[in-house]
Amino acid sequence: MRGTVRQRFDREQQTIVSSENSSADDPSADGVQDDVQRVWDVVVVGAGPAGASAAYAAAVAGRRVLLLEKAELPRYKTCGGGIIGPSRDSLPPGFELPFRDRVHAVTFSNNGRFTRTRRSKQMLFGLINRPEFDQQLVEHAQKAGAELRTGVTVQRVEQHGSAVPDRRTVAVVLQGGETLLARAVVGADGSASRIGAHVGVKLDQVDLGLEAEIPVPETVAEDWQGRVLIDWGPIPGSYGWVFPKGDTLTVGVISARGEGAATKRYLEEFIGRLGLAGFEPSISSGHLTRCRADDSPLSRGRVLVCGDAAGLLEPWTREGISFALRSGRLAGEWAVRIAEAHDAVDARRQALNYAFAIKAGLGVEMSVGRRLLTVFERRPGLFHAALTGFRPAWNAFKGITQGSTSLGELVRTHPMAQRALTALDRRQADTEPAATPESAPATETEGAGS
Ligand SMILES: Cc1cc2nc3c(=O)[nH]c(=O)nc-3n(C[C@H](O)[C@H](O)[C@H](O)COP(=O)(O)OP(=O)(O)OC[C@H]3O[C@@H](n4cnc5c(N)ncnc54)[C@H](O)[C@@H]3O)c2cc1C
Repeated sequence: MRGTVRQRFDREQQTIVSSENSSADDPSADGVQDDVQRVWDVVVVGAGPAGASAAYAAAVAGRRVLLLEKAELPRYKTCGGGIIGPSRDSLPPGFELPFRDRVHAVTFSNNGRFTRTRRSKQMLFGLINRPEFDQQLVEHAQKAGAELRTGVTVQRVEQHGSAVPDRRTVAVVLQGGETLLARAVVGADGSASRIGAHVGVKLDQVDLGLEAEIPVPETVAEDWQGRVLIDWGPIPGSYGWVFPKGDTLTVGVISARGEGAATKRYLEEFIGRLGLAGFEPSISSGHLTRCRADDSPLSRGRVLVCGDAAGLLEPWTREGISFALRSGRLAGEWAVRIAEAHDAVDARRQALNYAFAIKAGLGVEMSVGRRLLTVFERRPGLFHAALTGFRPAWNAFKGITQGSTSLGELVRTHPMAQRALTALDRRQADTEPAATPESAPATETEGAGS
């Protein structure tokens, strides 16, 4: 399959002649140089879930696609690896999820107290290791015809200036100086995105996630099999998790950036409390997550951004894989149309269509998530009480993780959810100062770990 696509590429290879004065169509123009460069239809920067999805979507549409990744694959990514329904539903056809565990039970605790486990006959969500999962996604994009280059860092993109031969082309400049040309570029280079900076992405929430991969003995691993733990943390808006993956537990916490020392302390205390402090982590790492502001751009000229690079992430849970997969696919599809656009007006129209598709779907989920986070920051005990003691709240959690509903749909279609959120908003507005310690009842207690 790849061979065929490659041959077709070589045969049909579009060429342009680099020229200061932009005369791609007129090789006799002044300033013609000898170097004939191929122009990719779509260049995708970053081979995480967003980039691999974008590359797949553009490649299945039959376009010449280059996927650029600074790391060698497979590469580690700080992430819980929780795959909820919308992630599962956004995978390419034939993709087999490399689950390390399937979650049927959730133990909730509120800063280590009021522990309660809720169970579900049907799987709630699955757990993967990111290196395997991401590698598999990239392989699907390659099978669809995308070409991959690893170990290359994109330094910047240029849409004007001497590196850009004409107005239909974007120059992608690599560290080291090499320049690649494309009709459209998708920025999927994660939370420290250079392409996001080019587009002018604006953020209204940045969080720091810390994680430890902890190999554990068989007896400990058995205790966690099929069950995760979610702990509402001591810092406003923070929470911690234990995600079991066979012989290793991924233990992490997330909190607003700027609370580095307190976040680190939370992780240490959390690990200690669970009786896991005696096991040496194989990896300890940290990573930022970012949520876009409502009015943040999603494109600039012929450049689109998706996934973490665009600040697309659920603000409350900081779930981002499904946002990356969904926005990546849309970006790949709309990048194909931008690549076909013959002028700036048409390119702009396609880019606006992409932004509209994002805002109508993921944007709605983000705005509900943002409201939930605002309340959660003040009243984690309320969430704890609802999830552990109020069946409709648990059912909503199940529906969201299993993919039968979404935050946006819940609020749109369930009057009770709408009323609850409005009441919470109102209560939030009335609550000054922040609420005092939680008082959720301990309805069922069990050892949360060891
Ligand atoms: C601690 C933590 C736990 C999380 N847990 C979960 C979870 O359980 N479930 C969930 O759904 N989400 C989770 N998330 C969020 C999730 O990890 C991200 O939202 C997701 O990885 C975004 O995917 P992406 O493809 O946009 O970016 P990334 O996965 O970050 O991929 C970006 C890629 O771009 C490459 N790159 C960067 N710069 C350049 C450059 N200049 N040139 C070339 N390549 C470049 C990087 O090497 C990387 O491979 C978690 C996040 C954190 C921090």
